[in-house]
Amino acid sequence: MRQISADAEAAAVRALKDLKPELTELLKDLIRVNTVSIPPDGNETPGQLVFQKFFRQHGLRSELYDTEFVAKSKNPWSRRQRNYKGRKNLVVRVAGSGGGHSLLLSGHMDTVPTDLAGWKHSPWEPSLSRGRMSGLGTFDMKGGMVAQVAVLVALKRAGIRLKGDLLFESVVDEEWGGGNGTLAGRMRGDNADACVIAEGTQMEIYRATRGSFVVDLLVQAGSEKDYFSSGEVVSPAIPLGRLLGWVDSWVQRRKTVKARGAYKDFADAAPVQVLAVEANRMENLLPLSVPLRAGIRVYFQTLPHEDVDALISQIEASLRRFERQDSFFRKYPVKWSPLLESPLLGHELSASHAWTRCMVKSVETVMGSATLTAAPYPCDAFLMQRGYNIPTLVFGPCGGGAHNPNEYVEMKSLFQSAEAMLAAALDWCGA
Ligand SMILES: [Zn+2]
Repeated sequence: MRQISADAEAAAVRALKDLKPELTELLKDLIRVNTVSIPPDGNETPGQLVFQKFFRQHGLRSELYDTEFVAKSKNPWSRRQRNYKGRKNLVVRVAGSGGGHSLLLSGHMDTVPTDLAGWKHSPWEPSLSRGRMSGLGTFDMKGGMVAQVAVLVALKRAGIRLKGDLLFESVVDEEWGGGNGTLAGRMRGDNADACVIAEGTQMEIYRATRGSFVVDLLVQAGSEKDYFSSGEVVSPAIPLGRLLGWVDSWVQRRKTVKARGAYKDFADAAPVQVLAVEANRMENLLPLSVPLRAGIRVYFQTLPHEDVDALISQIEASLRRFERQDSFFRKYPVKWSPLLESPLLGHELSASHAWTRCMVKSVETVMGSATLTAAPYPCDAFLMQRGYNIPTLVFGPCGGGAHNPNEYVEMKSLFQSAEAMLAAALDWCGA
C-alpha cells in the first residue's frame, strides 16, 4: 500500500534532479581524500568530514563518533587486533513524524589500498569521461554512498517529512573483512526496520551475501646452510605444488555443494580461490637461492545456510590427513593461520519479505524492470541481519574495477540508484 501522494513524490524527484551537479562535486571531493585502510590502520575520518560539510550546507545535522569501543567489547564479531583511534563513523538521523517504518542507508568510507602503477591518473584525482567517474573507491563504494546521501538531501529540499526515521551512516573498516564500524552503529542503537547497503551491484538487488574464510597455509623447511653444501637442499617449493593439489581437491569438492535460495542458479556457488602463492620473488635483488619459506593464501566462500565453524573444522582435518600421507609434510607440518579472528558469515533475506518487495517495486518504477539475485562477494550485511535482526539488502550503481586500478562508477546509474532508493524510502517509511 502506497501512503505517499504523487505530488510529494514528484517534488522529491525534482529536488533530486536539481542536486545532480552538487552530487557530482561531492563525489569528486570524496575521491580527493585518501581513505585507504590497511590493517591494522585506516584513514576514513577525512572522508567523513567531507560528508559532514555537505550535510551542513543542506541543513542536516550529522554526528561523528569514535569506534574504538567495539574492539574492547565482547561482541563475537569484533576485530580486536586493529587500531581504531581517531577513526570515526558518521551518522545522520532524520526523525520521522511517527507511525512509519524506519530505514537505514549504510555504506563504508574505507577503500582498499591500490597499486599506483596500474592507474591512468592518480587514484585520488577524479576523472569524468563519457559518463564514467574514475577514482579509487568510486564503485566500492563512495558512488553508492553519494546516492544514499542524495535521498536525505532531496527529501529535505522538497520539504517532505517521512513517517518513519531515515538514517544514513558512513562506517569505517569494512574492507579486509572488518566490521567494527558497522558494529559500532548497531551497538550505539542506530538501528532500523530495514537496511540497504550501497555496495556496487550494477543496479541489481542482492538479497543474500556469502561468507568468507581466508586462511594462510605456511611452510618452513630447510636451512640457510644447505644451499652451496654437499648435503640435501631442503625447500618447501616443490612440496607446495602438492599442497596446491590439496587446495584443488577443495575447489572440486565445493563445486558439488548444493546451493539453494538466492544462490541456487550460481555456476560456482561456493568458490574456493587461491589469492596468493608465495616463495622467493623473481627479482634481481634476491640472489639465486632456494626458498625456505613458502605459503598459499586460500579464500573459501560460504553460503548463508552453511555451518561455517563445522566447515572450517572439516577443512583443517582434511589438511591434517593430507599432511600425514605426505613424507615431506609429515616432517614439516603446515602452519594453519586464519587471516581474521572470526570468519565473515553470509546472510539471506526472503524474496517475499516486505522490504525486498518494496525495493523491487522501487527499482522497477525507475528502471522498468528489476533483477533480484545474490551478491558474488561477502560484506558486512550479516552483521546487520544476523547480528541485529535488520532485514538487509545490497543495492548500488553500475561500475567496474573494484579492488583494481582505474575503478569507476557510471554517473547515470548513480542518479538512477538514488531515485530508486528515494522511491523505496518514501514507500517504506511513508509520508
Ligand atoms: Zn565495499
